[in-house]
Amino acid sequence: MKRALNFNAGPAALPESALAKAEKEMMNYQGSGMAVMELSHRSKEFEEINERTKNLLRNLLTIPDEYEILFLQGGASLQFSMVPMNLLEEGSIASYVLTGTWSEKALKEAQKVGNAVIAASSKNANYRFIPSSSEIDIPAESSYLHITTNNTIYGTQWHSIPENLPVSLVADMSSDILSRPLNLSAYGLIYAGAQKNLGPSGVTVVIIHKDLLNRSRPGLPSMLDYRVHADSQSLYNTPPTLSIYFLMLVLQWAEELGGVKQLEQLNKQKAALLYDAVDSSGGFYTGHAEEKSRSLMNVTFTLNNEDLTSAFLHEAEESGFIGLAGHRSVGGCRASIYNAVPLENVEKLSDFMNVFRSKN
Ligand code: PMP
Repeated sequence: MKRALNFNAGPAALPESALAKAEKEMMNYQGSGMAVMELSHRSKEFEEINERTKNLLRNLLTIPDEYEILFLQGGASLQFSMVPMNLLEEGSIASYVLTGTWSEKALKEAQKVGNAVIAASSKNANYRFIPSSSEIDIPAESSYLHITTNNTIYGTQWHSIPENLPVSLVADMSSDILSRPLNLSAYGLIYAGAQKNLGPSGVTVVIIHKDLLNRSRPGLPSMLDYRVHADSQSLYNTPPTLSIYFLMLVLQWAEELGGVKQLEQLNKQKAALLYDAVDSSGGFYTGHAEEKSRSLMNVTFTLNNEDLTSAFLHEAEESGFIGLAGHRSVGGCRASIYNAVPLENVEKLSDFMNVFRSKN
C-alpha cells in the first residue's frame, strides 16, 4: 500500500505498526466482539487500556510516583486556561517565557485568569532563539514559570532547562514530548496535546506533581479542576476512549523500538539530514532558527524569494511530500519530523532538497 511522505505539523504521521494493530483489532477488540470505541468506558477492557497506557508512559518517561498522569480533553489550548486556574494563587503572579505563537496564546489566556507577565521573550528577533536562563526575570511573587519546550511554528527548542528555579516550572511539551529523555523532577507540571508525538488528536496528557493538586481556586468547575480528574483516574466523565487506546499503541511501539533514548538518537539523525541540506546549500536555503536553538522536531527554512518557495512546495507536492508549507503566520517551509516519521522519508526529503537546489 502506498503511504504518503507525511511531514505534517500535527495531526501528523503515526507509526505504521500502530495503525496496522488498530486495523486488526477494529471489529473485535481482544475477543470482546466490539470495537474499542464501542466499549463502555467503565468496562474491564477499557479500564485495562487506561491503566496500561498510564504505566507505559510512566516507564517510558520515568515518571516518579509523586506525579499524577491525567488524560484530558480540550487540547493543549484548554491547558492554557487550566494551568492558571489551578496553579495561579490569589495575589500572586504567573510568569511566561515567550518563544512563539503558542506561548503568546498561553500568556493571553493566563491574563484572563489573573496577573500574568512576560519573564523573557525573543519576539523582537522573530522568535529565532530561546532566551538563556540569565535573561529570565521571574518576579518574586510568582506561582510558576511557563515555557514552551518546542516551538512548532518557528522551529526552535529548549536544549537545556532553567535549573534551581524559585518557582514551579510548567511546560507545554505538545510538540516534543517523548522525543528525548525527560528529567521530570525539574517540572511541576507538563502538558501535551497528543497529535504530534503521542497519537491522534482528542487526548491531552497532563503530568502534575501531587503537591500542586491542592492549589486550585475555590469554586472551579469540576471539569477544569485537576484534583477532580486525579481523584477519578481520568474517568470523571466519558474519556476519549479511542484516542487513549491509540496512545497506548503508539507507546507500545516506542517501547518496542527501545524507548526515548533510542528515539532521541533517531531524531538527531533525522534532523541532521535536513539541517545539513540547509547548511551545505551555500545560502540557497536559510534556516529560520539560530543554530543553538534549532528544533529536532520542526525544521523551518526559507528560500530566497516567493517564486522559488512556491516552486519548491509545488514540486515537493508533485513528488509526494505532504505538509511542507510553513505555518501561515511565518511562511517559508517547515518539515515536521516527529518520532513516527521514518528515517528513510527524511532521507528522501534531504535528497529532494539537494536535487532541487542543484537544478535551480
Ligand atoms: N502548543 C503547541 C506547542 C502546539 O504546537 C499546539 C498545536 N499545534 C498547541 C499548543 C495547541 O494545541 P491544541 O490544538 O491541541 O489545542
